Amino acid sequence: MRYSVGVLGATGMVGQKFIQMLADHPWFKLTSLAASERRVGKKYGEEVDWIVSQDVPDIAKDIEMVPMDPKYVDADIVFSALPSDIAREVEPKFAEAGFVVASNASAYRMAEDVPLVIPEVNPEHLRLIEVQKKNRGWDGFIVTNPNCTTIVLVLSLKPLVDLGLKTVRVASMQALSGAGYPGVPSLAITDNVIPFIKGEEDKVEAEPLKLLGKFDGQKIEFANIKVSASCHRVPVIDGHTEAVWVEFDRSVSVEEAKAAFESLKPLDLPTSPEKVIIVREEPDRPQPRLDRDAGNGMSITVGRIRKDGENGLKYIVMGHNTVRGAAGASILNAELMVKEKII
Ligand code: NAP
Repeated sequence: MRYSVGVLGATGMVGQKFIQMLADHPWFKLTSLAASERRVGKKYGEEVDWIVSQDVPDIAKDIEMVPMDPKYVDADIVFSALPSDIAREVEPKFAEAGFVVASNASAYRMAEDVPLVIPEVNPEHLRLIEVQKKNRGWDGFIVTNPNCTTIVLVLSLKPLVDLGLKTVRVASMQALSGAGYPGVPSLAITDNVIPFIKGEEDKVEAEPLKLLGKFDGQKIEFANIKVSASCHRVPVIDGHTEAVWVEFDRSVSVEEAKAAFESLKPLDLPTSPEKVIIVREEPDRPQPRLDRDAGNGMSITVGRIRKDGENGLKYIVMGHNTVRGAAGASILNAELMVKEKII
């Protein structure tokens, strides 16, 4: 059975990636596209400033854009690529009207009864859906995926938890596509690094604790780990690179960490990569230009794993921010919900 799906915020950076990734999807059929009021009634292919690779997929070209209102959207699942303030208002209306909302926006990520999920990390948190439906009296529900920097970081942290992970420090080098379209002005970023991304450090410090936390039947008990982040925008188009320092409650060898990274298993879902974490041995990898498309953008790449004092390690991790960090993350969550018969 193919489920009909819609994209809210279809003309933006992440919206375009959704359309590209959904064009030939075996389980999902693109039926509805919504963006801001000025697009309503216009054909997607004529209206969008298409900036991801290749052309607008045929399936989307002639779709007439509809208002951001459940009564005009014909779909079982809506993928939300809306700015957070708009998502805060719009997503509950869709959930109330019976839609499954798979959201990229930060509006409800930290809400107590909303699952924040990376399928390979905390699939069991989807059980919060029942709590949400009961609390809110909705026929549908909202499931979220984390911030793009958080996803790349937490995929690399998950295998380290069982080794006694205590503290995490991360310095990000974040791609321009992470700021949406048209995003950061060219005169601000060319020949430059901007050492501030509004709201980003708070998200990267808070979200991992929920993701690595435990579902107690009613709520998530947050993980007892400390995360400290410094986030920076760099002149790279796609792919967030992160320098990570981790501290354990015992001495962990480089070999143990490598084995742990490689042990994170992919799920059997259409958008899953063959390998979740690729470990590179070269001293100058990962690099965004060379590694962001690994596993069709759904693998993350780890390299330069080194000792850092008695109980510490440091490494570099890199992942595609609009694929693994955004559209691909929501699509994988929706695939998992289909497989688990939640949808
Ligand atoms: P974007 O390029 O700015 O796109 C925003 C989209 O929302 C556009 O389709 C826009 O439509 C629509 N929109 C804006 N204002 C609206 C309004 N008042 N009413 C209805 N629609 C409106 O942003 P983005 O980078 O794709 O990000 C989308 C969401 O995903 C954000 O919440 C962001 O934080 C999150 N996210 C982004 C990334 C990333 O790597 N970019 C990663 C993870 C999460 P118009 O074109 O018609 O204005």
